[in-house]
Amino acid sequence: MQTSDPFIQIDNVRRAFENSIALDGVSVSFERGAFSVLLGPSGCGKSTLLRLIAGLDQPTAGVIWVEGKDVTALPPSGRDLSMVFQSYALFPHLSVAQNILFGLTVRRTAKADMSRRLAVVAQMMGLSAFLDRKPAQLSGGQQQRVALARAVISERPICLMDEPLSNLDAKLRAEMRVELRALQQKLRLTVIYVTHDQVEAMTMADKIIVMNAGRVDQVGTPEQIYTRPASTFTAGFIGTPPMALFDPVDLAGGPVPQVRQPHVIGLRPEDIHLSHSGPTARLTGVEYLGADRLISAQAGQTAFIMRTPASAPLPAPKFRFGWLAASASVFDATTGKRLP
Ligand code: ATP
Repeated sequence: MQTSDPFIQIDNVRRAFENSIALDGVSVSFERGAFSVLLGPSGCGKSTLLRLIAGLDQPTAGVIWVEGKDVTALPPSGRDLSMVFQSYALFPHLSVAQNILFGLTVRRTAKADMSRRLAVVAQMMGLSAFLDRKPAQLSGGQQQRVALARAVISERPICLMDEPLSNLDAKLRAEMRVELRALQQKLRLTVIYVTHDQVEAMTMADKIIVMNAGRVDQVGTPEQIYTRPASTFTAGFIGTPPMALFDPVDLAGGPVPQVRQPHVIGLRPEDIHLSHSGPTARLTGVEYLGADRLISAQAGQTAFIMRTPASAPLPAPKFRFGWLAASASVFDATTGKRLP
């Protein structure tokens, strides 16, 4: 069950390397039982933050709290958490059962207890039939499940995951997203999940932390991040295709908000429609997606994409377009920050 009490708190954490600043003053909290996703482009500092939470690395400054206790200096073994990585890190010479039990064996757990927990976890993860196999005799998805089973069997309340699905093909990845989310909810795990894949973040997260260049850009539910991006960065990072950013001049004749300071106007592809009035655009391309079409167009200096139902008429080479005033996002042209 998800509660709102902050379980893990990151307080003004900085991590500088010789030639780069991976984290530049990050403060964020993670709630108990929630699936939180660290999302951002390559190099934004996601993995560094996860490694600090795990205790695999130390911050240059700042504090990490777990349940009100300062754990900043504790080694990984002193933190009550499990980890799953992109490379499943399975031992090739050990059987599936031995791989799953590895951590418990190291901790000298009683044999009877191990067998009982193995049976439960293997059943839950659909691995009961494969326990005697070696990892090489499993598919990618099955290997990933072994890695998850190894984390789950530790019965630790926090599970850190770094791009755990990125080695799987698209279909399997989609299946595993659903499985992973169901597992997290069933076990009421507190998950902190690193990805650069916005679809993973949108489909699995209770809360998304969007990161950019070592800082937190926005924290919110998938819906908040999608409908009210806090900056042009997040607006452009979330959504396929992303929100188009218009120079207001290119929207003259449409329902533009009255804003004094220099600004840009963001519109999602599905919020733009063909219209009898409004600004004029030039058709530059059509992409058929089955249920929808993506229409590429140019209005003045702004290139944009609109999504229309495949059953809707195709626009003429020159067409007019409109949108609902309420669907527009407005950002400061200089800072890129959302204007209320
Ligand atoms: P990716 O999705 O590519 O893994 P990321 O968001 O996880 O990216 P990090 O791996 O946290 O990013 O790296 C953040 C920045 O810190 C990068 O500029 C990276 O080059 C730098 N960095 C990370 N680890 C080290 C290190 N051990 N030594 C020096 N620089 C590092």
